[in-house]
Amino acid sequence: MIEVEKLSKRYDGRLVLDGIDATFAPGEVTALVGPSGGGKSTLLRCLNGLESFDAGVVRVGSDALAPGDVRAQGEKVRSIRRRVGFVFQQWHLFAHRTALGNVTEAPLHVKGVGRKEALERGRELLEKVGLSHRQDAYPSELSGGEQQRVAIARALAMEPEVLLMDEPTSALDPERVGALIDLLEQLRSEGLTLVSVTHEMRFARELASRVLVLYGGRIIEEGPPERVLASPHHERTRAFLGLGR
Ligand code: ATP
Ligand code: MG
Repeated sequence: MIEVEKLSKRYDGRLVLDGIDATFAPGEVTALVGPSGGGKSTLLRCLNGLESFDAGVVRVGSDALAPGDVRAQGEKVRSIRRRVGFVFQQWHLFAHRTALGNVTEAPLHVKGVGRKEALERGRELLEKVGLSHRQDAYPSELSGGEQQRVAIARALAMEPEVLLMDEPTSALDPERVGALIDLLEQLRSEGLTLVSVTHEMRFARELASRVLVLYGGRIIEEGPPERVLASPHHERTRAFLGLGR
């Protein structure tokens, strides 16, 4: 469970998150959509302590982050990062580690999992994302879609309670999008909390239980994908979806 209350953030005095209130429950998939610059990536980064904010609170289970905690980089932030996995918009793989090395790095060195167990689980995850045959390749030798899938396996390797993803399908072909939806659906049914920024409406329709539309740092609309994507209430959502004026 992850919860934000009255979350606000400014960049250079400009408000980019404007009093966000939201709760993300276990087993729930939230698709975060909205026009470019609306604050989607910034919100995700605030949710796992990667970005400081100016007002409000972020709660993950019993851990709470207040403004200032992120800059202090203390135990609170480390605890939240262990509980909340992140797949970045630009994957950020470790360039000098193989695919398998990327997936086992944090379990070995952050979580203290034994080598044998970390390797076993790492291979299993690479298989789940369809990359067993590429486990010894370095990121520079992988295609964009392959790197994206390594990033997803790497986040899952920490067994997070919450998984945040920033456009996880941007480099995937339609078949891979389908496979990722199946994998995430399985994780969701096991109780993972999923929040994903997406421009892929198929991803939102097939996987999400809820769509949040972020515009100008505010949630302007929310509801089930069938409703929000087909008959949005807000004029800005209609425009964003390319629905007739
Ligand atoms: P996109 O769909 O293009 O990824 P987004 O919804 O993820 O957009 P954000 O990256 O969260 O948008 O950006 C929200 C606003 O904050 C934008 O106006 C952006 O220019 C600004 N912004 C983001 N990062 C910084 C930064 N490091 N310094 C200053 N302004 C920033
Ligand atoms: Mg973004």
